[in-house]
Amino acid sequence: MFKTILRHNRYFKPLRCFHNSALLRIDFDPYKVLGVPKTADQKAIKKAYYDLVKKNHPDVNKEEGAEKKFHKIQESYEVLSDKDKRAEYDTFGTAGGQGSNPYGQSYGGQNPFGGQNPFGGMGFDFEDLFKQAFNQGSGGRGGRSGAGFVTEHVGDDIEILKNINFKDSVFGKKIKINYKAVDSCNTCKGSGMKSGKKKSTCPTCHGSGHSTHSLGGFHMQSTCGTCGGTGVTINKADECNTCHGHGVEEIPKSTEIELPPGIKDGTRLRVPQMGDSPMITKDPYNVLVKGDLIIRVNVSNDPTFKRQGNKITYNHDILMTTAALGGEIIVPTIDGEQVKIKVRPGTQNGVKLSIPNKGVPINRNLNNRDDMEVFLNVKTVKPETPIQKALLEALADTINDNTAKRSEDHQFVKDPNSTEELHPSKLKKIGDVLSKFFNFEKKD
Ligand SMILES: [Zn+2]
Ligand SMILES: [Zn+2]
Repeated sequence: MFKTILRHNRYFKPLRCFHNSALLRIDFDPYKVLGVPKTADQKAIKKAYYDLVKKNHPDVNKEEGAEKKFHKIQESYEVLSDKDKRAEYDTFGTAGGQGSNPYGQSYGGQNPFGGQNPFGGMGFDFEDLFKQAFNQGSGGRGGRSGAGFVTEHVGDDIEILKNINFKDSVFGKKIKINYKAVDSCNTCKGSGMKSGKKKSTCPTCHGSGHSTHSLGGFHMQSTCGTCGGTGVTINKADECNTCHGHGVEEIPKSTEIELPPGIKDGTRLRVPQMGDSPMITKDPYNVLVKGDLIIRVNVSNDPTFKRQGNKITYNHDILMTTAALGGEIIVPTIDGEQVKIKVRPGTQNGVKLSIPNKGVPINRNLNNRDDMEVFLNVKTVKPETPIQKALLEALADTINDNTAKRSEDHQFVKDPNSTEELHPSKLKKIGDVLSKFFNFEKKD
């Protein structure tokens, strides 16, 4: 159920390869460099190496030539810590010898692995050796000297979907988020062990943190699956009962987030380091960095308002009579007000009216808002009564609408000789029509 992302710092190379047959050629005595006798066992070699590294590491020792000396120490260690290379050196006086030294060239600064690692040119990983020295050499896994030799483990991001309504998206809102995150186990405080217990060297990688595979004459190294690259494991009997040695558990979390005004649907808000802890035990060599909490905002549709960029749009129906004669309408705003706006005589369908400062805040600023746009939707009436029909027909006559259908008993016939819109005779005829429908008595 847990996923862990290992993101390593620049000193760490999770995968490296170097050629099988090209061994290190050295022109100095590695025993002398490390100050150990020819009979020294691996433990003594590591101890000596560790002591020298502490004194001569370029981060610590700023003297001239320190770096070169440091490389020499490392090369010596690489020969003597490798069973085959050590045997070769003991037999031939040099390790390797035929062909050019693929690692020695890098003294001048040319790094065959291309990274920015100042030690990366040596064909092996300084950090591994440093770790080994710590894990097995001195026995103590305490104070490491100098930064940069720890592995950074980054936990997963957690993404949470949060639904908010349209109004809250405009004005912003403080929301509460409840979720579960991987975090340090409360019982063991992240160590993964019962109190007073210690980790032991990983049986798979023997503390190197790597496993090596041969592939087409190349050694491919990858992070050890047993210990996850840490080089140490916890004995079954020493495991914390709560987290079973993982050092982490899923813990319910609750947090309040201020959603900014004007937030858009689909926005992802990233809250740094509120996500999962990496699934790894706490250790002086591991920096544990939590993933982020990501809140994906889903703005639900509003029945009244819509958003277009930073404008809030609203459709308002008006009758064709209001459109024709003009008038005043009342529209709601997202602020909850009712705003009166004027409709001009002769307004066409789809005309847009703007209400300033009632749109979405621009750049999260509630004092700087875009406009609200009101789109007028002109509704045409269908005459339902004889009087409505007569009036519309009369209107069609007066505005010279020749395509409008007339009733069979339509009494008003357009005078083809007339050019005047409101000819008295026409008005009289309209009056006649109206009188008929209203049953007015004719006055002569
Ligand atoms: Zn625990
Ligand atoms: Zn391991």
